[in-house]
Amino acid sequence: MPSFEPHVQAARAQLALVRPQDYAQTRNALDGAVTRLSPYITHGLLSLREVYDDVHARFGLDARHKLVFELGWRAYYRHVWSHLGEGIHQSIHAGVLPDEAYRADMPLDVVQARTGVAAIDLAVSELYASGYLHNHARMWLASYLVHLRKVHWLVGAQWMLAHLLDGDLASNHLSWQWVAGTGSTKPYLFNAENVAKFAPAQWRSPGTVIDTSYEALDELARSPRAAVDGRVQARVPSALMQPPWMSTPPDERWSAPDARWAAGRDVVLLHPWSLGAAPHVTHAEAANPQVLLIGAGFEESHTPMAWSERRWRFVTEGLLSRTPNLWWGSAQKIAQALQGARSVSWLPEPHVDQALQQVRAHLQAKQPQPTGQASPTLHTLSEPVLFEPVETYCGSFAKWWRLSRIAA
Ligand SMILES: Cc1cc2nc3c(=O)[nH]c(=O)nc-3n(C[C@H](O)[C@H](O)[C@H](O)COP(=O)(O)OP(=O)(O)OC[C@H]3O[C@@H](n4cnc5c(N)ncnc54)[C@H](O)[C@@H]3O)c2cc1C
Repeated sequence: MPSFEPHVQAARAQLALVRPQDYAQTRNALDGAVTRLSPYITHGLLSLREVYDDVHARFGLDARHKLVFELGWRAYYRHVWSHLGEGIHQSIHAGVLPDEAYRADMPLDVVQARTGVAAIDLAVSELYASGYLHNHARMWLASYLVHLRKVHWLVGAQWMLAHLLDGDLASNHLSWQWVAGTGSTKPYLFNAENVAKFAPAQWRSPGTVIDTSYEALDELARSPRAAVDGRVQARVPSALMQPPWMSTPPDERWSAPDARWAAGRDVVLLHPWSLGAAPHVTHAEAANPQVLLIGAGFEESHTPMAWSERRWRFVTEGLLSRTPNLWWGSAQKIAQALQGARSVSWLPEPHVDQALQQVRAHLQAKQPQPTGQASPTLHTLSEPVLFEPVETYCGSFAKWWRLSRIAA
């Protein structure tokens, strides 16, 4: 079972294990040589650029290699997100059935990993146990839920996102749409033979609903009726989901924003998606009277996006490995506590974009300062990109890939 430690050293150690040749040959198999870098990439402990530079230096890889192509998928989904914004929460276009034909709750037997389809139950159990799933298992789980159980892709996407350590709105929601057929030209379907080809023996699912032909699966996907009998169709309210999801950190090491900490200091605001940002500011330096690293959790960003306890732990420990100062609060409360700082910097990231924009607006507004000080100067940190931004919206990965270039 993979496990992940939330610091840069662990991310670099995982990167050092990457074997691109094996990856290209075996990545579709559940026990293939996939990189398992995604939690580190999602939480800002590694950038796509660092991954590319490393494999380029060690193995001479370029944009034609399968691994770079897969990194491209992540960048492509970010491209789509930057154009569609909140629109990624809706079906991009019609799928095989209208949105209303799908259910709004997760089936209890799926949530409890007792569907009787080994490939599904093992995927759910592994997701809960490690917070990570191989791409193929994610595809199987999503396809089963949408096409055979008639769960709306967004419901499944929110459920999976909550449990993933690498949960990324763009990669997750747009992959679900790709499977559902609302973001691609056809639904993704799989059968027991496909599972047997790519998964270890215990995943095999003979004699189950997936043990059929692609023609039969296509018919099931196009029928509004769920392909599994009513007995296991019980619904579970999301509040009772096990393991539970949380919209606030279950940890007393987060405290309310406190203006006294920031007063007169150069604050670097770290957030859950930038655990590795500002690498020049070490834990020790953060203790010096001039510089202050603050790990900030914005309430607004989590209300619509609950996390598993494991993910909260990952993020909390990751931030604590950089700074003992963790703030949890609304963007407004955090901004108020930063008013007396000399400067404030952060790494932009779409998951917290709205909250950071609120902080910016608040700090730029002419607030009367109790100390008579000027408002803090604001800086955005940046990291080198791997792919040059593609300005034209690309509705398909193929088009984006044709237009994209590795940045110098
Ligand atoms: C239903 C579903 C939900 C998904 N949800 C997420 C998610 O929330 N967060 C997430 O990072 N990925 C998501 N993915 C994409 C992909 O499954 C994971 O990025 C990949 O499995 C992570 O494991 P790895 O690092 O070992 O990948 P590797 O195969 O080793 O790939 C290396 C890196 O390339 C990128 N990558 C590879 N394949 C994809 C892909 N298909 N789409 C986007 N990026 C890719 C990732 O950054 C990954 O870390 C989802 C896929 C599906 C089908």
